[in-house]
Amino acid sequence: MIFKKIAIIGAGVMGGDVAFDLASKGIRVTLLDISEEILNDTKYEMKNKYNLVKMVKKIIKVQDFDSILQNISFTTQYSDIENFDLIIENISEDIQKKRELYTILEKTSTVQPVYAVNTSCISITTIASLVRIPEKVIGMHFMNPVPLKEMVEMIKGFHTSTETIETCKLFLKKLGKTPVIVNDYPGFVANRLSHLFMNEAAFLVQDQVASPKEIDLIFKKGYGHAMGPLETADLIGLDTVLNSLHILYESYQDPKYRCCPLLKKMVAAGNLGRKSGKGFFDY
Ligand code: NAD
Repeated sequence: MIFKKIAIIGAGVMGGDVAFDLASKGIRVTLLDISEEILNDTKYEMKNKYNLVKMVKKIIKVQDFDSILQNISFTTQYSDIENFDLIIENISEDIQKKRELYTILEKTSTVQPVYAVNTSCISITTIASLVRIPEKVIGMHFMNPVPLKEMVEMIKGFHTSTETIETCKLFLKKLGKTPVIVNDYPGFVANRLSHLFMNEAAFLVQDQVASPKEIDLIFKKGYGHAMGPLETADLIGLDTVLNSLHILYESYQDPKYRCCPLLKKMVAAGNLGRKSGKGFFDY
């Protein structure tokens, strides 16, 4: 493997998925979260993920579920990832939390790892400004669900070096992924597009133009997409969609990213989509 010691930070929707994907391809990883409870929930969820991947993809490199789990070390201790060479960061879409994390990480290792930031919208150049060697920071925007999505949007920050890009590209290709390299502006390509249609779909529900089911049906059948905007928002997590819209709005100062009030109300009510069991749809 190109990287010898790999840590995945944040064991929520994305971190758990990334850890599972790597482990199922025979790569040993350490999965770190501040919450023991979330680590346990994620470990439990991996069995469902395993069954889903087996059903959809049929082929899975590491066949047996227990062997996949053995490739993952679960921890809440930053000292367990001292001097790793790749950190894939997937913590909450909150710049203040990311700032605090990178301050800790920079004190954890004497040699700076490559930081691959899995963010929906936060500028990679901003994250790079928090560390010693900004050349070793890159955006690695995995798609959800990670084991089933080949494309990874790779974001080149202002200082990201060619060496970092080429090494990460090779790493992703070895995982069977297809990296697409883009430049750094908040939301990059995927989320500048997707958050506009998810937000507008929420406005359609708020304005009672149609039900969530009908809106998604029109989108899927009319345009040939596999998923509708509202089920996509539920899958991502409505809190993450809301935070991303705030970042887009702040970054561009453009009213096209103003967040739908219904979305804010749903998050305040704890209806976060799949992860809470209720969003635009029930789970
Ligand atoms: P999430 O809220 O499900 O999980 C975030 C996790 O980070 C939580 O388990 C939390 O305990 C943990 N965390 C917070 N601070 C931490 C710290 N200092 N150290 C260790 N762990 C910490 O969020 P998510 O949906 O997994 O998103 C993670 C990142 O990936 C975000 O930046 C998001 O924008 C991006 N992303 C999300 C999706 C998606 O579909 N949900 C897709 C692509 C990218």
